[in-house]
Amino acid sequence: MHLIDLYQKQDFVFSIEIFPPKTDPGMLKLKSILEAFKSCTPDYISVTYGAGGTSRENTHELAAHIHHELDVPAMAHLTCVAHTAEEIDSVLSKLKNSEITNVMALRGDPTVGTNHFIQPKGGYHFASELITAIREHSDFGIGAAGYPEGHLENPDKDDDRKHLHEKIAAGADFVVTQFFLDNTFFLRWRDKLRQEGANIPLVAGILPPANLNALERIAGICGVSVPEKLRESLSKYQHDQEASREIGLLHSERQIEGLLAEGVEGIHLYALNRLETVMRLGPGLKKSALTSVV
Ligand code: FAD
Repeated sequence: MHLIDLYQKQDFVFSIEIFPPKTDPGMLKLKSILEAFKSCTPDYISVTYGAGGTSRENTHELAAHIHHELDVPAMAHLTCVAHTAEEIDSVLSKLKNSEITNVMALRGDPTVGTNHFIQPKGGYHFASELITAIREHSDFGIGAAGYPEGHLENPDKDDDRKHLHEKIAAGADFVVTQFFLDNTFFLRWRDKLRQEGANIPLVAGILPPANLNALERIAGICGVSVPEKLRESLSKYQHDQEASREIGLLHSERQIEGLLAEGVEGIHLYALNRLETVMRLGPGLKKSALTSVV
């Protein structure tokens, strides 16, 4: 099954993103809470791909676990980082053997200590090249990344959208965005892409801020703006972890409400493996999505 079938069949698709722990105990712990994730009825769960080492194998293992043991559709992320074209083919073959039929195709971030991506020898430079290769390899459903505030490395937002169109032309079925904290960025970006002819699902990525320090760090890395009101609220409760979490979750709830009212095709929840996030936002999200289309 390709995930695009879900986006075409349903008015709204709810997906969750998790990352693979590096250790065996970490994997066991995550697997033990995935049943609870499932109780929030996500339409699919995606698993990120690390920069190297065991976590890469764990992406495959977790995606297979989600598909076979949880009986929830799974999408494995895959990046160009440190891979030759042959290695990419081999990862795809393994995924296919495990009946994983959907891949989120990404370039990946520059390696730590460098500020620009270096194309691996015999590998790919841009996600659009990876998407072309996956399309040639076999019959995978393909997701691609989008950036409502523009990608950090590309100051020209029009040019960044042009490269997103290239990913769509290469065969991406749908686009999932990087998180954003102000819906205006997503809605303007979506309008522009639609005007420019993009007619595939544009799915909103939501990340509930945990506290001010964590938020400023990740927003800085991703080039995401932090609304002043949110910053002020979080700074008042900088030393109160529980209150900060609550402020972050309330902010996400309001964002989701606004996006549903604007007819968003899907919400992709960056759960960061936190059960609390999924249990809090998941059920309401499904329910309000249903009422918004009735
Ligand atoms: P690309 O689309 O290749 O774009 C990268 C940059 O190059 C952009 O600035 C773009 O404007 C520019 N560009 C693109 N094509 C061209 C061209 N032909 N000529 C000149 N410039 C060009 N990272 C991980 O490591 N693992 C993950 O699992 C992961 N999951 C993610 C999931 C989502 C939903 C998102 C939004 C991001 C994820 N990332 C992940 C992060 C992602 O790898 C980084 O944001 C990365 O820096 C860019 O990846 P991309 O696929 O968007 O790259």
